[in-house]
Amino acid sequence: MEQRRNKVDETHRGLPSQLTMPCRLLLGPGPSNVHPRVRAALGMNEVGHLDPSFLKIVAESQELLRYAWQTDNRFTIPVSGSGSAAMEACLANCVEQGDVVLIGVNGYFGERLCDMAARYGADVRRLEKSWGEVFSLEEMAAGIQTHRPAILGLVHAETSTGALQPMEGIGKLCREFDCLFLLDTVTSLGGIPVFLDRWHVDLAYSGSQKCLSCPPGIAPLTMNERALAKIGRRKTKVPNWYLDMSLLDKYWGNERTYHHTAPINMNYALREALLLVAEEGLGERWERHQENARILWEGLAELGIECLVDRDYRLASLTTAVVPDKVDAKSVCSYLMENYSIEIAGGLGQLAGKVWRIGLMGFNSRRENVLLLLSALDKAIADT
Ligand SMILES: *Cc1c(COP(=O)(O)O)cnc(C)c1O
Repeated sequence: MEQRRNKVDETHRGLPSQLTMPCRLLLGPGPSNVHPRVRAALGMNEVGHLDPSFLKIVAESQELLRYAWQTDNRFTIPVSGSGSAAMEACLANCVEQGDVVLIGVNGYFGERLCDMAARYGADVRRLEKSWGEVFSLEEMAAGIQTHRPAILGLVHAETSTGALQPMEGIGKLCREFDCLFLLDTVTSLGGIPVFLDRWHVDLAYSGSQKCLSCPPGIAPLTMNERALAKIGRRKTKVPNWYLDMSLLDKYWGNERTYHHTAPINMNYALREALLLVAEEGLGERWERHQENARILWEGLAELGIECLVDRDYRLASLTTAVVPDKVDAKSVCSYLMENYSIEIAGGLGQLAGKVWRIGLMGFNSRRENVLLLLSALDKAIADT
């Protein structure tokens, strides 16, 4: 008996201390810092996922999401999981074995779309462009004419390169060729202009932890009637139970049938984040992101640092800054973290070691953050 008690005491002595986390300024490619109101929402009382108070706030979130995306799509929901879960939901539902899926690959997330589409049995065709460049409408038209895809997948804001894909005319082309238009808006929603309906986008997804400044773990997804009709024509079951929209639609529709337990508190946080977007107004918010990015770009130029992407296609929410000769990209990142508690990121894939990725997303897109980063970067380059 005595011996046993000792054993229990021993495990107690090994407990870690109460949780505390450092305060970081997250100026990388995401996550971004959470707005204080979003953090407060996250800590509110939990209720059941069929509680009338919960159903009311998710309906409000859906409406706020339609505003943020500029769409009237009925099927507009938050998916449980990060942006990649919503990305996978699009492909799992819309791709059937053998469908030709054409994907614009000019960065890391285009590659991820190819990988996911192939796993769901798509006949993947790639439209390639160097990282940091974007596709012209002529290149898109040629690709669609050659491949006659069932789905065209594009990344609006390539977080790996900092390039912004122009949208003009692409959706119309897809309608002409009877193809669904799938758009990744993870790093654009809530930061730079997005007009889903005007652009004839049929299905789109996003993430919570980029320009919406909400923690990661919940991801917006929207589909119009064209996309839902393709899903309705499926001959086979969606090969992913968790992300099967026909099952999920029964929860989101009037039936409110249990499918899986929604992440309750993440839904509070997302609603608050979307409310902040609506209170500020999309126009104001886009303008703020553009203005702070401009200050960053000018400041970088003064430090002798170039941007990878042409000014015309440069993303306000994420800048890829070219690492100057003889500067070690990693050491600078570590210096910023150790001395300023600022996080920026290095390059992904073929841009590893060549660029820094600097995010000015949502709540973090503020002048004082830009000025602090610029002076910290100046010091980091001098000292490393
Ligand atoms: C971050 C990101 C994703 C993936 O989102 P996760 O939340 O990391 O799963 C997809 N596409 C783009 C463009 C992104 O920036």
